Amino acid sequence: MQNKRIVCPHCKNVIQEDGSRYPRDGDCYKPEETLVSYLTKLTGDEEDSDGTLSKEEQSEQKKKRQSVLKSKKYIVLNKYIFPSMANLTLFFTLVATSPRLRGLFDEDIQALLFPESQTNRGVERVFERFIDAVLAVDQHTPPEDFRFALIDITQHKIWDQFVGIGPFKLNNLLVNSVLLPDMGRAVSWTSFFATEAYGNISFDKDRRPVLF
Ligand SMILES: [Zn+2]
Repeated sequence: MQNKRIVCPHCKNVIQEDGSRYPRDGDCYKPEETLVSYLTKLTGDEEDSDGTLSKEEQSEQKKKRQSVLKSKKYIVLNKYIFPSMANLTLFFTLVATSPRLRGLFDEDIQALLFPESQTNRGVERVFERFIDAVLAVDQHTPPEDFRFALIDITQHKIWDQFVGIGPFKLNNLLVNSVLLPDMGRAVSWTSFFATEAYGNISFDKDRRPVLF
């Protein structure tokens, strides 16, 4: 008997109807349409459709549209961005501390972080895109930008990991004369570049209580 082949409505991959073969329906994934269209509208420069408005009216209308859009940002933040962070943070925290969960999820985590896009050719692996975007600074970024603090936190975490494992992998001489000074220099630099950023972190701490 021939297995019935159907096409995934999302990625157009051929899937087995009984889900016994990869990819199964729903295994492919992408950002929420609502979020994508919201962000696209915010960044986009739409023209007025019938072209009957004057330049001033057009820019007035655009301003109005943008301000309506901006007033709705909490909807996508509440629905997608903040819950995603809670889910990912809890998931990774529990997996990190439980050998049983590592055994169950380690392959899935690699599938989450390492693959390249199948629709967006030429972009990096998901983890690289994420880190790159969260820590995005360049020569125009002002020194008080909070991202410099995030870069420093990242470097501190790497420092902590190596201070922890160093003594188990290397002899004392190497740890003390090479590893610690080298890694210490790296974290000293990120810390130096982050000085103004740490002094400038400001958000309403009561606005979004963290419940996890
Ligand atoms: Zn699919």
